[in-house]
This record gives sequence, structure tokens and C-alpha cells, in this order.
Amino acid sequence: MTETPVSTAPVEIFDAAPSITPVLGPPPPKDILLDVRDLRTYFHVMDGTVPAVDGVSFSLGRGQTLGIVGESGSGKSVTALTIMRLLEIPPAEIASGEIWFDGREVLSMTMDEMRKLRGNDMAMIFQEPLTSLNPVFTIGEQISEQVLVHLKCTKKEAWDRAIESLSLVGFPSPEQRVKQYPHEMSGGMRQRVMIAMALSCEPKLLIADEPTTALDVTIQAQILELLKSVQQRTGSALLLITHDLGVVAEMVDDVIVMYAGQVVEQGTVDQVLVSPRAPYTMGLLESIPTAEKRGTRLEVIKGVVPSPFNLPPACRFEPRCPYAWDACSQVSPPLVVTGDGQGQLARCHLETSLGASRSVAAHAAHELALEPDAPGQLTGGLA
Ligand code: SF4
Repeated sequence: MTETPVSTAPVEIFDAAPSITPVLGPPPPKDILLDVRDLRTYFHVMDGTVPAVDGVSFSLGRGQTLGIVGESGSGKSVTALTIMRLLEIPPAEIASGEIWFDGREVLSMTMDEMRKLRGNDMAMIFQEPLTSLNPVFTIGEQISEQVLVHLKCTKKEAWDRAIESLSLVGFPSPEQRVKQYPHEMSGGMRQRVMIAMALSCEPKLLIADEPTTALDVTIQAQILELLKSVQQRTGSALLLITHDLGVVAEMVDDVIVMYAGQVVEQGTVDQVLVSPRAPYTMGLLESIPTAEKRGTRLEVIKGVVPSPFNLPPACRFEPRCPYAWDACSQVSPPLVVTGDGQGQLARCHLETSLGASRSVAAHAAHELALEPDAPGQLTGGLA
């Protein structure tokens, strides 16, 4: 082995201390790997302040998989970057909250502690692998450099670990592939390299931010299958960020739906996808194309995500919600445990005493909208 890994560690462009010293509550139980509590991340820009993440709380157990779903601008990626402490401060401000990871509070850590944690115990896979890989170094140099930074080992051991990681993610002839440059690989292969790099130090938490968005459909399925099998083999927990409910149904145990910086629904994947309680989640499900809906006009959620500089005063979904009434523009709905008492949460007045009398009709309308021949849908059109 003649290759000598050189300094190619992913550059941490954004790396700064949070702007708060959190007053800490008690640590979570040992079986909880990640516990995010009332997290608020704001961006101060010329036009004002953007509450990108506004009071988000959730937990992820060891070895479990949690999906965060939402449209662009819902705050899901900023939540992940805040957990990794990879935001530029300013303009970002972590205004409040606690992030407990493996029994330690992340926002209280020094940057040195944080650097040791990143890559070692928590790792992130980004959307576009080409922008995350250095074009002038081989992938072996890049993976082994990360191993050298985080694990006490020799260069030879780091190089061998790079080959092992490529083998783990399904590269044939990893001894040869490790000497290739990123431009010599397809998009799917580069994403495999990113997964190999993230797994090279056997992290306890893997955060995957839209890991298949830049890939074509067949490669998407392969990468998701790979993520699932690798996670099962290594026992890592997975935080999967996506806008694709199909991916969520395939991959995760629990799911959070975010809208305009807030959690609007939370529960197991069966609860949220089969019996959604928040109208935003209902709208997302109604707008999924299915074989049964072939030939009918697809439902859409009308309107667009509100400007973060001009959020609706109470319920943020109110301008787009088909079930809205006066109270929705006057009183902010809290995130409440839904009626079935099984731990599903929803942020909607239909789940509180304010809207109890309207709830049954709203859910009946949702069921109807899922029917392929629902009134109001047009037939014909698609062959
Ligand atoms: Fe719709 Fe009102 Fe519920 Fe908001 S609170 S999601 S506007 S029904």
C-alpha cells in the first residue's frame, strides 16, 4: 500500500458556538440516543428574522429510525444542521432549546468536543455528493483522512478501513475503487461513497438529508435499501430527512411532519400515514399519485408555504387549510396528544375542544378524498 492519505478532511465552513447557554433539564433515559427539546433556530437577515425552527421537540431511540417530512422551507434541514452544530452564527441564532446526544448536552459542548463528536459518533449524509467530496483527492484519501482524524490508528489501518467501508456499501473491487476520484463515478456511486464515509467511524447516529433526491428512481431504491441494511448491521440510529412520504413508509419507525418551522404531526409511521390528524398531513397524503387514481385529477394543497417574514398570526397552515374557521386565524393551535391516546401528536384545533364538533366531518372528507372516484375529481386525462 503506497497511498499516503493527506489532509482532505471535509472542511467545516460553518463552525461556531451557539448563542445560548442552556439551562439544562434532566438527561433523557439511557435508551434515548437523541433528545431534542423545544429547539428554536432563527436567522437574522436584512429583511428581518426567520424562525426556521420554532419550538421543535422529539426523541430518537438507539438503533431506531425517525423520519422528518415537510416541504422545502419547513425547517427540517435546519433542524439537522442545528443538531450537528453546522450553522454559521451569526446570521443563525440558536435561541433556545436543549439537544441531548448519548447522555451529553450538545449545545453546551466546546467546539473541540463537538469536532470529536461529529464524524465519530454522529455523521451526516448530504443531498448532493459531488459538492461534499473533494474533486482533487481520491475517495480512499478522503475516507481514510476522516478515519485518521477520529480514530486512533495508523495510516495503513485507516486505508484498510476505507476499503472495508466501500465493501460494506456494496462496491465490487473496493481495493481498486478506493484509488478513484469522484469524477470517475456515477451519482449513485458517489452517494455510496458518502454513506461509506459517514459509516467509516461507526457512528451511533446517522443523519441523512434527502440522500436520494439527486438520484434517478432505480438508484434511489438501491441507496435506500443500502441505508436500511447497513443500519441493521451496524445498529446506528437513523434520522432521515425527506419530502417523500413513500420513502418514509419504507424506511422509518416514527415520523415527524414539519410545516413553517413547527412540528404539526408526530407519531409512528402507521399512525401518521394511515390515520393522520393534522390537515397538512392529510393534504400531503391526498396528493400522492397512486395506481388507483390513474385517470383522475390529483388533489393538491392549494397555495404556497407562507413567507417566513410574514407568517399567519395563529395557525400557520390556515391560509391553505380546507377546514379552517375563525378560531384558526385567532388562536395558535398547540401540539396536543390526539384522541386515540396512543401518543400521536397533532397541531390542530380539530384535536382540541375548540374544533371537536368539526373533527368528524373533516376526517370523513379526508377519507373521501383518498377514494379514486371521489366527487369533484375529474376522470380522463392520463392514459
Ligand atoms: Fe386547519 Fe384550523 Fe387545524 Fe390550522 S388549526 S390546521 S387552520 S383546522
